[in-house]
Amino acid sequence: MTFSLHGIGISGGYAIGRAQLYSHDRLEVPHYVLRKADIASEVARFDAAVAEARAECEQLRDHIPEGAPSELAAFLDLHALILADAMLSQVPKDLIRSTSCNAEWALAQQTEALLAQFDSIEDVYLRERRQDVKQVADKVLKALLGHPGHVPMKVSDEPTVLVAHDLSPSDMVIFKRHTYAGFITDLGGTTSHTAILARSLNISSVMALHNARALIQEGDVLIVDGIAGVVIVNPDELILEEYQLRQNQWRLEQQKLKRLKSSPSATLDGDGVELLGNIDLPQDVFEAQEENAAGIGLFRSEFLFMNRPDLPSEDEQFEAYRHVAAAMKGKPVVIRTLDVGADKSLAWLPDVSVNPALGLRAIRLCLAEPRIFIAQIRAILRASQYGQVRILIPMLASLGELDQALELIAQAKAELEREGQPFNPGIPIGGMIEIPAAALAAEWFARKLDFLSIGTNDLIQYTLAIDRTDDAVAHLYDPLHPAVLHLVAHTLKVGHRLKRPVSVCGEMAGDPKLTRLLLGMGLRSFSMHPAHLMAVKQQVMHSHVSSLTPLVAKLLRAGRPERIQAYLERINAL
Ligand code: PEP
Ligand code: MG
Repeated sequence: MTFSLHGIGISGGYAIGRAQLYSHDRLEVPHYVLRKADIASEVARFDAAVAEARAECEQLRDHIPEGAPSELAAFLDLHALILADAMLSQVPKDLIRSTSCNAEWALAQQTEALLAQFDSIEDVYLRERRQDVKQVADKVLKALLGHPGHVPMKVSDEPTVLVAHDLSPSDMVIFKRHTYAGFITDLGGTTSHTAILARSLNISSVMALHNARALIQEGDVLIVDGIAGVVIVNPDELILEEYQLRQNQWRLEQQKLKRLKSSPSATLDGDGVELLGNIDLPQDVFEAQEENAAGIGLFRSEFLFMNRPDLPSEDEQFEAYRHVAAAMKGKPVVIRTLDVGADKSLAWLPDVSVNPALGLRAIRLCLAEPRIFIAQIRAILRASQYGQVRILIPMLASLGELDQALELIAQAKAELEREGQPFNPGIPIGGMIEIPAAALAAEWFARKLDFLSIGTNDLIQYTLAIDRTDDAVAHLYDPLHPAVLHLVAHTLKVGHRLKRPVSVCGEMAGDPKLTRLLLGMGLRSFSMHPAHLMAVKQQVMHSHVSSLTPLVAKLLRAGRPERIQAYLERINAL
């Protein structure tokens, strides 16, 4: 039967392929065979899940409510002991190595074997501990299923669309290794990090479909329309032909855009516009080079910290940053310091905030864990020898935080100096403007910094009080809200007045429908996924800033959404 589902189109283009379901269901423990090269990371993923389960136990143990039965502490201690036992924390890793199976499967096999042994125990007390073992194993399994790196292997050579209830940003990093034609999820918002990563892959995807996972069957033929945000299930011949045609046209347009690669990025009035690339992992730098990016405007360094149970060492980070700096051959490389928390979780960082988006994330976490921050800054400073490296501090809200961060950077410099390690002492330091307080106080931040970068994804989230990952409020997430536009315009004005370069590195910068608006507001530096560089360049090359500026000024004075939309359409039609 043919039917369609409607959600949010995340990345453009069309995918046609067979559904591969991804399940979080306990009874459907996925089973697949790993490539040899993936075994070490699968073992690390298992360790990370055990670490997460342990952190959960510890967290509960430390927060036992007053008046709770005294057995609760003993019960949690017992769970911690079971978790530490090699039968549960070691044997599954041996199974992964010896049979090349995935971590969930190895754990399920070992749990079954353990539980069978309990059945033959005569002592009633000991036999009842069976339930505890099962609960602990379930905790680890839950961490494996619900967290980093569980994107299954693509099982067929045919074009395949992954259908999931939800995917995490760290899943998406693993997703990069597979060649799915597209993916769809029930949950997720437009600028969740999962969506951002999907866009960087430039494959068709639709999120917030609510019940796709329940309605779609394994092997169903799917059309994913990432532009309209529609998924058509088991289409008839006519619809299929229509979409095959659209898919071909889309590919042709993409090919045409590639011809702009070597054209200079300037408006019709001759204003040069800097188009930079956002990257997540060091290897993404090749895509930025391929699209002729003027530099890296945002290296989301936190992805180096994901899908592993431990922290990357200073040397490991140095290698990653050096690789990017050297590859960009003297073009600027802006490395953002660790921005974790909220929807980007790490194995060693149990999510204990009541509201993680407002909790100890990004620079707040780094200031609470100065050794982690200093190790990263040392690595960035050491890499500054190999290119035009800059430091970017995320999530600044108050000047006190900036002072502390600058103090720690000075400390890292002093350490390297004492050790005789070379680095660029004048490395530019910038701050992200992504909290309304920072935008309103941009002047004071700008005075202490070399440059600013506006993170519109979080700026919108915090200005409009809309969780960027929550599909229930995704329709309210509005880059054109007058409050958002005023905060962006104000920051640009401050940068202009104080002669501090300002760029935009949130998703607004990569949306060609907003290019002219941002140009008219005075923006001359856009940082986006390399996949969008050519579409934005095309807009830049066809824009006459002096004629669109008066209309942009009118748009900024308009309050009602329909008037703002009408002005935007006029600006884009010029
Ligand atoms: C932003 O908030 O706009 C930004 C670029 O940072 P991130 O999307 O990684 O939070
Ligand atoms: Mg941000």
